[in-house]
Amino acid sequence: MKKRILLLAGGQSGEHEVSLMSARSVLGALPRDQFDVTPVVISKQGRWLPPTETQRALESGEAATGGDLVLHRVASAEGYDAVFPLLHGPMGEDGTVQGLLTLAGIPFVGSGVLGSSVSMDKVMTKQVLASAGIAQVEWRLAVRREWQQTPDAVRARAAELGFPLFVKPANLGSSVGISKVGTPDELDGALNLAFGLDRRVILEAMTSHKPREVEVGILGNDAPIASPVGELRFDAEFYDYETKYTEGRAIMHIPALLPPEVAARVQAAALTAFRALDCAGLARVDFFYVEETGELLLNEVNTMPGFTTTSMYPKLFEAAGLSYSELVTRLVGLALEER
Ligand code: ATP
Ligand code: MG
Ligand code: MG
Ligand code: MG
Repeated sequence: MKKRILLLAGGQSGEHEVSLMSARSVLGALPRDQFDVTPVVISKQGRWLPPTETQRALESGEAATGGDLVLHRVASAEGYDAVFPLLHGPMGEDGTVQGLLTLAGIPFVGSGVLGSSVSMDKVMTKQVLASAGIAQVEWRLAVRREWQQTPDAVRARAAELGFPLFVKPANLGSSVGISKVGTPDELDGALNLAFGLDRRVILEAMTSHKPREVEVGILGNDAPIASPVGELRFDAEFYDYETKYTEGRAIMHIPALLPPEVAARVQAAALTAFRALDCAGLARVDFFYVEETGELLLNEVNTMPGFTTTSMYPKLFEAAGLSYSELVTRLVGLALEER
């Protein structure tokens, strides 16, 4: 019997378009002799689109409006063996959709409510990982109300970290809303941008030297494995949205040119983080490696990483001998696994 899979894509976050790109790749790769796949695109307003509108959105790469309230569709989701929530950012990668599917009793690919929500929030992630003994940059939290009522307190907190620093919405991805702040006079603009997208904002110190950016994939549930380590090289101030998604702007090196001992440290720290955050299925764990000092700092954990055929996560496992379609098949298998 073929497994019936519901593939969710799009969604309300700033990563709507990225999700649709990933979904097109996954749709093309799930072997049709094993799976019956129904895609459903969620509009930017959070409504679930019927088949023809879904098809149109997959082709155009965007769905601004249209569709039904989510609850109408979950009722019909009963007919599925598993859901692949290929959604990035808030209202998709953050435990909300995972909660809905858990309530509905439908297995799904990736982390559950706890792992998704804690990993989505960069502050929560840092707190949990600090208690697991994982090295990270120095950081501070600010919430929107503080920024509105006592902006000087927020500015002072930033100054404690020194400049340049990074300002980020705590719950987002694809570098949306992130600024590298070189001087104090750039701080307010960066905070206004980030608070426009999230109630919680994280301020992060930079390492003294420009770090190398290395990433590793994790695959599995309670016995996860790590992929080879990859590195991103690009010519930009930081790995921003444009650099991420403009063809040819960033180059992936797989495996990363690292001493084997460093690569082993990356894999070990990523596995520790995956377990500490109660992740499941998959995650891409991003690090900063400071060559001059040998320091390895965990940046973040992405529980639903970019998933086009040319994205880092599938490429990392391809280097480990798992093709893209074997990988998605394995992920569905992990969703159905008893835990
Ligand atoms: P993703 O698309 O991987 O989910 P994201 O939106 O969650 O990304 P981050 O990975 O936290 O964002 O940051 C984006 C980029 O900004 C990093 O890849 C790096 O280039 C730069 N960056 C972020 N924080 C720091 C930092 N503390 N020090 C140096 N560079 C940083
Ligand atoms: Mg991220
Ligand atoms: Mg992400
Ligand atoms: Mg990242």
